[in-house]
This record gives sequence, C-alpha cells and structure tokens, in this order.
Amino acid sequence: MNLARQIEQYLPRQLLELVKDISGQAAKRGQRVYLVGGVVRDLLLGYPNFDLDLVVEGDAVKLAQQVAETSQAKLLAHHRFGTAKLKYENFTLDLATARREIYARPGALPAVTPGTLKDDLIRRDFSINAMAISLAANDYGELVDPYQGKNDLERRLIRILHPESFSDDATRILRAVRYEQRLCFELETQTAELLKRDTPMLDTISGDRIRHELELIFKEKQPEFVINRLAELGVLPRINPFLKSDGWIAEKFDRARRLKKPTQLPSLYFCLLIYSFSERDIEQFLARLNISAKLSRAMRDTLRLKTRLPFLDKSSLKPSEIYYLLREYEPVAIQANAIASDPSMVHRHLQLFLTKLRYVRTSLDGEELKRLGISAGPEMGKVLQVLHRAKLDGEVRTRADEKKLALSLKELDFPTDPELTLE
Ligand code: ATP
Ligand code: MG
Repeated sequence: MNLARQIEQYLPRQLLELVKDISGQAAKRGQRVYLVGGVVRDLLLGYPNFDLDLVVEGDAVKLAQQVAETSQAKLLAHHRFGTAKLKYENFTLDLATARREIYARPGALPAVTPGTLKDDLIRRDFSINAMAISLAANDYGELVDPYQGKNDLERRLIRILHPESFSDDATRILRAVRYEQRLCFELETQTAELLKRDTPMLDTISGDRIRHELELIFKEKQPEFVINRLAELGVLPRINPFLKSDGWIAEKFDRARRLKKPTQLPSLYFCLLIYSFSERDIEQFLARLNISAKLSRAMRDTLRLKTRLPFLDKSSLKPSEIYYLLREYEPVAIQANAIASDPSMVHRHLQLFLTKLRYVRTSLDGEELKRLGISAGPEMGKVLQVLHRAKLDGEVRTRADEKKLALSLKELDFPTDPELTLE
C-alpha cells in the first residue's frame, strides 16, 4: 500500500520538506529513514499528529548531527540510546537508530543493539503502533506493516505482538488501556487474557515508570475512562490496594476539567484520585510512585483538609477566619476539596478563598509603615496582620483607611514620647 498522497496532504508543508531533506541526507550515507509509530497510526485514522518519530536504518545520531550542521535545528543527542532530537522553530523531530531489544528479565530495561526496521517494529507495544512509512526515494510512501497493524486499526483492536509482551514490560498494560479508551477500540481477546494474567508483573516496574504512565493518562482528554477501565480490569489495585474507581471519580474529573482556571489539571486529578484514601494510606502510594515533594504535599494536604472541612461549615465565619483556616494548604488541595464537596456552605467558602481571599493584599507595605513611625520587627508584623484581616473583612478599603488604622494601632501598641513625635 502506498501512502505518498496521504502524507503530502496530511503533513504541514514545512514539516514535509524537513523530513524529505533528512531522508535525502540519509540516502547519501546509504541509509533509509521511516516515519514510525503514532504518526502512522494517526495518519491512517485521519487524526492530526505532528509529533514525528523517525527510525533510521543506520546511525541516527550521526545523521542528526549532519542535519543540524546544515540547518537551523538545535540538536539533543543521546549517544547511549542511539537517539536524537532535532528542534526547529515550530517542530521537533525524534530520530532513533533502528534497534533490537532483548529483555534479560521482566520489567528490567532491555539490552539494545542496532537492528533492522523489522527488529525495531517487533519490539513495539501494539500492532497499531508497529507500522512505518518509507521516506526513501525509491519507495516513498510505502507502508511497512509486518504485524497487521492496519488490519487491527480497521477492526479497532489493541493487540500485543507476542505473548510475553506484557511481562517484558508491564507499563504496556497501562498503555493498552489508554489507547483502547482514547481510540474507542477494544482489547483483542488474547491480549485481554494476557493482560489479566500479567497484571501482577506491574510489581516489577519502577515507581517512576508507573507514575509516568499515570501522567500520560492524565493528559488524555477524558482520563476517567481509562481509570474506570483499569479498575474494571483489576489493574488499579495492583498499583495500590486502596485505589478504586466508581462514578464518583468520573463526575469529579469532569468537573475539574470544566473549571475555567484549573490550577494544574494533572495535579488536581492526582488529588481527586486518592480522595477516598485515609491520611495513613496515602504514604504507601506516594512512596511506590516516587511522587515529587510538591505533589506529595498537595496530596497530603487534600486529605488533611478533607478531615477539617467541618470547621468551614459555619455561616458566621468572617472572610479573615476563612483565610486563616485555609492559607496553609496547597491551592490545588483546596481546589480538589471544592470539587469534591457538593454545593454547600463549605464549597462556597473554599471557592471564596480560591477566587478572592488568597489574593487580598494590604495597600501599605513595610516601608510605608516605617515612614509612619512603626518599627520593623514583631510590632510591624502585628500591624500588617491586623491590616490584612481588616482588608479581608472589608473594614478598610482605601490606602487612607489603612493609614488611619495603622496610626491608631501605633498609638495603642507603642505609646510614644510626644517630644519625639514632634520631630
Ligand atoms: P501518543 O499519541 O500517545 O504520543 P505514540 O504512539 O506517539 O502515541 P509514544 O509514547 O510517543 O506514543 O511512543 C512512540 C512509539 O514508541 C509508540 O508508537 C510505540 O511504538 C513505541 N513505544 C512507546 N512505549 C513503548 C513500550 N513501553 N513498549 C514498546 N513500545 C513502546
Ligand atoms: Mg508520541
């Protein structure tokens, strides 16, 4: 099958010129270049995807170096992996040396040696991701599909390429479900059976790699579909026994997305994912996935605040009281609790903090207070705090109000010698 016409229509002109140029330079070195993976899949499906992966039968790093010398591209090379990134103004191209992989043991990173295109395709996760399109002049546009990926695209199936695929690399379990849900495909029968058989192999995968797959899931348009399906297949509890998914998660993820300004959507998804955990249960999850210090703080804060929500359930609370109850929590943890709590007083108070209170600042700063004769140190701290509270509660509005209040506090707190004030 030849896809030359489709490539010409699908790729932006500039990008097309780039890959043709790269292929031309490779040809002079006696090497062949192919488009591979996601772009081939999406081109056949008619979905836009301009994240191009190129496979070179030959040394991809040397080729990329040569291309970079003759163009504006910035080069990032990984000699150890035989891969290189070429960064242009509007595009990034990934080049990889065609390789053969051997897994010494499940979950370990594979031993890699240079290989042919076919070797490179068999090491891939699913048949629909194991297709290539030649960019060489003599067979430009020819589809290389040794594992019937196109047929699986038509049957809408996610299929692994050999029975040990999931045990070699159990992150493929998470990837399979991600593609299944994104594309509205199904797991092919044997793939589904092997996925269930090999789910315990997730234990062989490092925390960083599992977390990375979750991050990729959270970049999907509707991650809740993936999370629900992982629960249905019994995969979620293998990552953490307390993880579950029900209608609750789906509704809250959807709500998180609708927020006009979601404070970092992926972090918010993480906080909602563990919302049913107890404060004690979360530690195992954080350690297993090697979650960053900042996100760990947000997730712990989410659960700590959840237990303290009853304090916010009082209509008599002043804005300043709400502020001081909430200021110690990460904003994303507050957001997660706002999403999790149904419309109510608590919800309104959380929203008030997020949209208004946390941005309230006094008009006067330390320098101006000094000019009013208030000395730096604990006294000034107290004055600033009183001003801030008054501003939160709407008791002062203008700079003049603040000055007046500050001066009255000064008189209260530090009675001064009249002679000195006259100076
Ligand atoms: P996406 O649209 O999600 O980016 P993609 O196909 O481009 O899809 P990437 O994660 O960018 O996916 O990976 C590029 C290619 O590398 C995949 O198409 C697949 O062939 C291969 N690949 C990625 N991860 C694995 C894995 N764990 N095992 C085998 N092959 C993989
Ligand atoms: Mg990609």
